[in-house]
Amino acid sequence: MIYRSTRSDIQANSLEAVLKGLAPDGGLFVDAAIGTRSFDWQHCLTLNEFGMAEMILSFLLPDFEDMGGLVRRAYLGKFDNDRLAPLVKCGSAYVMELFHGPTSAFKDVALSMLPQLVTAARRQLGIDEDIVILTATSGDTGKAALEGFHDVDGTGIIVFYPDGGVSPVQRAQMVTQCGANVRVCAVKGNFDDCQRGVKEAFSMLGAEACGKRLSSANSINIGRLAPQVIYYFSAYAQLLADKAISPGDKVDFIVPTGNFGDILAGYYAKLMGLPVGRLVCAANENRVLRDFIETGVYDARRPFVRTSSPSMDILVSSNLERLLFIASGGNAGAVRTWMDALKKDGVYSVDKATHANIREAFSAGYAGEAATRAAIKRIWEEDGYLCDPHTAVAFSVLDSYRKSGDYRGNMCVVLSTASPFKFPAAVLDAVGGQLSGDGFSEMEELSRISGRAIPRNLASLRDMPEKHRDLIRREDILDYVKDILNNKQEGEHI
Ligand SMILES: *Cc1c(COP(=O)(O)O)cnc(C)c1O
Repeated sequence: MIYRSTRSDIQANSLEAVLKGLAPDGGLFVDAAIGTRSFDWQHCLTLNEFGMAEMILSFLLPDFEDMGGLVRRAYLGKFDNDRLAPLVKCGSAYVMELFHGPTSAFKDVALSMLPQLVTAARRQLGIDEDIVILTATSGDTGKAALEGFHDVDGTGIIVFYPDGGVSPVQRAQMVTQCGANVRVCAVKGNFDDCQRGVKEAFSMLGAEACGKRLSSANSINIGRLAPQVIYYFSAYAQLLADKAISPGDKVDFIVPTGNFGDILAGYYAKLMGLPVGRLVCAANENRVLRDFIETGVYDARRPFVRTSSPSMDILVSSNLERLLFIASGGNAGAVRTWMDALKKDGVYSVDKATHANIREAFSAGYAGEAATRAAIKRIWEEDGYLCDPHTAVAFSVLDSYRKSGDYRGNMCVVLSTASPFKFPAAVLDAVGGQLSGDGFSEMEELSRISGRAIPRNLASLRDMPEKHRDLIRREDILDYVKDILNNKQEGEHI
């Protein structure tokens, strides 16, 4: 039983934690001892990607049988690069390209793996009921989860996305999704509304509803977070192979951040021994996390801004809760008090010691819309590297970070979380291309300017029919879920 809730002493083994997604008390499952359990990270660095994945996932999720088989089934042949995530030099830093998977965003690394974990957990625990995955998405999780779960036996998936709050390409990716076990629904609201509705559905319906089991594909699920640890190790190994660092050198990672999952996986890598220097949280105009890391006060009482980096348009960042738990020395009572205050008042402040523990490992910065645009243009013109707006936020923050007192001269790796072709209008606009108002022509224009091919999964969207047109009010998410669970229609699996 290495997992426990962040809000009470409820415990679970790793199979149960993956299957449940969220703890019954509303907390997140954490491995309280992760920093004290021993992990042979030096050996891990000598393995290839699949070996690394098997070793890391077996450490984080020790109850799963045949992790090597699960890893192979998850990744073999799915990524368009023989590495899951290649490292590319860009100026004096490196970029880790996390977008070579089936949906062109970094979510693929985790969401190719999660269905394997969920079905293995179901099998090992001897559960007969279908698992229904409820997912809120700010754009990329939805598609990556649909791609992972569609037509997987014994599972169904329902995705909620903010109407008008995702890029046209992201929307097209989701509403054209095939599969008998999938539902996609737009919500009149923002991502936080979607996430709140999904969490409410979990707490109102319980883990077992209408003869089904609910689980989550959001990074509140530890099975979603664990695979993300892999690419920090891979980045380090690639830097060693490139002789950009010597063994033991610390490496800083600049991470475009929304729900705090990606960057938290970096913290896990650090706790497992990898020589990670600082983790730099890069925020867009919705800079609640950046302000929190600077001040220790989490204040979500601010306008929600829609930006060109929609996957980071989040004010209530779920995974921070796991960091709070670890940084407060495992104080579930304190975490519960903070989360209650956030729900009730929209704000909380952590004690000095917890804040100091967080600042020891984390730095933070933000880029507004003008700075994001300028970064796309500058990186393209100076380094010949075309990046998407989320990655551009990180590049902009890299600049300010290097001028700050936190910077110690470590090698820096920017995590690139999406392909520029997913956000063609924003990227074209920044590099001075022609906007046509049609996402597909804009992808072509981008391809012409950059000489890079449009990823196949995006190019093929144009000819695919829209299958999902549901649109609901944000207060109706729970009822929508109930209806689907109760009124299975002919030929549908959820
Ligand atoms: C999801 C996402 C992010 C934010 O990642 P978190 O784990 O939620 O912090 C950043 N960029 C892109 C492109 C994303 O899809």
